[in-house]
Amino acid sequence: MKVNEYDVIVIGASNSGGMAACAAAEKGAKVLVIDKMKSTHYLYRLSLAAVGTKAQKKAGIDIDKYQLINYLCAFAQDNVDQKLLWTWVNNSAATVDWLEDNVLKPHGAHLYAQKDAHYQTLINTAFPTEHDVTNKQHEDIFYGNWVIEKAQELGADFLWQTKLEHLITENGVVTGLIAKKMATSEVLELRAKKGVIICTGGYGSNEALMQKWNPLGLKKNVYSDSPRDDGSGQLAAVEIGAWRDEEPAEIIFDRGAVPVGTNTNDYYVKSWEDVGYFWLGSYPLLKLNLNGERVGNESAPYEFDMNRATKQPGYLQVALWDDATMNNLKQFHTLGCARLNWPGFYNTDENKEEINNRVKEGFIQKANSIAELAQKLHLPVENVQNSVASYNQMCEQGQDTQFGKEDFRLVPIKTGAYYGAIYGGRLLATLDGLRINTKMQVLNTQGQVIPHLYAAGNASGGFFWGSYPDHVPGLTASHAQTFGRLAGQQAAN
Ligand SMILES: Cc1cc2nc3c(=O)[nH]c(=O)nc-3n(C[C@H](O)[C@H](O)[C@H](O)COP(=O)(O)OP(=O)(O)OC[C@H]3O[C@@H](n4cnc5c(N)ncnc54)[C@H](O)[C@@H]3O)c2cc1C
Repeated sequence: MKVNEYDVIVIGASNSGGMAACAAAEKGAKVLVIDKMKSTHYLYRLSLAAVGTKAQKKAGIDIDKYQLINYLCAFAQDNVDQKLLWTWVNNSAATVDWLEDNVLKPHGAHLYAQKDAHYQTLINTAFPTEHDVTNKQHEDIFYGNWVIEKAQELGADFLWQTKLEHLITENGVVTGLIAKKMATSEVLELRAKKGVIICTGGYGSNEALMQKWNPLGLKKNVYSDSPRDDGSGQLAAVEIGAWRDEEPAEIIFDRGAVPVGTNTNDYYVKSWEDVGYFWLGSYPLLKLNLNGERVGNESAPYEFDMNRATKQPGYLQVALWDDATMNNLKQFHTLGCARLNWPGFYNTDENKEEINNRVKEGFIQKANSIAELAQKLHLPVENVQNSVASYNQMCEQGQDTQFGKEDFRLVPIKTGAYYGAIYGGRLLATLDGLRINTKMQVLNTQGQVIPHLYAAGNASGGFFWGSYPDHVPGLTASHAQTFGRLAGQQAAN
């Protein structure tokens, strides 16, 4: 068995791991990064949150950080470590500015700070934290390889397709790890004098772990969009006594169209391909349960859409709309990554194209009448007709007397062609993880530091609880990058 010695070893080369490697190498540490896959280029995300960046100052954005943290605590019912939230808010700008100055600008890219955080209702409270990675042509810019190149330029070594199996401890101190080369099954012993940083993300594609740590997540999600998330990094830490969050947290898109008749117990597609993608799911369209009844105000964070579905039979929802709606998407004034046009992802034509593709594939139904649509969706026809009629009446009156949706989001369904999609959640990532302190040191079940073990990003916990606050856009990737950077700095000390 080969033994190699470094100061700091980072496990995982994505948002948290790449930033940890750059930060530790900047401090002069001899750094090794291992990742079980071949590349992490597309995992570095386009929408990043921060408070007080250069881009925000230039755009005149001033976020009250006390108000923001207060909101995040309320959102999580205080099931968080408030000191971690403050650690993020006080370090996010330095991290995002570092990324822009050292990684993006040398390649002709920059950050666009998004001002719009319009909301009218308490449930939709929003903050203009979003930065989009772009260039002068307003293109979406993937920058993952540039972060890796920067880490290499600073002296970090990389071993791809190399998987952490177990951590090594001596007298309770983490001194290294056992890893396996994925291609050859060769086993490596790697030694770290100063620290090992776990940046291995979540566990959403490991169904056994989902069953154990987040069983309801398996029911409300029909897709896992992070197929490499197997929880192996967290398990290696738990094996040596690390403490984990005791309740789940997750980031979910309400965009997972499924074939009619799907039972969520049998359907859990783990892929990052475009299977069943239904971007319009995040629009506050008329939404019904599988009995054809409207069950709540559809205008809420993405995750809440799927939470609402857990109180309904079948754990799924049905969205209904018509051609006129498709021509009127601007009226919904959606924000974050559901925004229409740049810096969102789709414009009207692209949304229409996606719907047409899903119709051809059988994920979305199209009909000439509401009755025909209900039949195609296998829903009780009369219930659907009644729900649509009463919704249309409220749209005409300009007031949602049933559930109080904002009036500007009331768009009737009456001109055909009519569309319907049955959909569930797309689990982007699990967000509950290893308990850490503000130095990113992993704690044991007694709340004491496990010497020389650090964690960041979705492998770490204490920051989120339950649903993801998507009205603080870009928070997960920024949490990963900011805490990765701090972990790298701390481990290199
Ligand atoms: C489609 C999609 C779009 C998203 N868009 C955004 C966005 O715009 N803004 C935002 O804030 N968030 C977004 N997210 C969420 C965001 O991607 C994650 O929160 C973020 O990637 C977490 O970073 P991480 O470094 O903690 O982990 P990950 O990105 O999950 O990376 C973990 C890495 O560790 C490696 N690894 C795992 N186990 C091992 C092991 N045992 N040994 C070696 N390597 C291992 C994996 O191969 C992987 O490369 C999106 C997610 C998805 C799926």
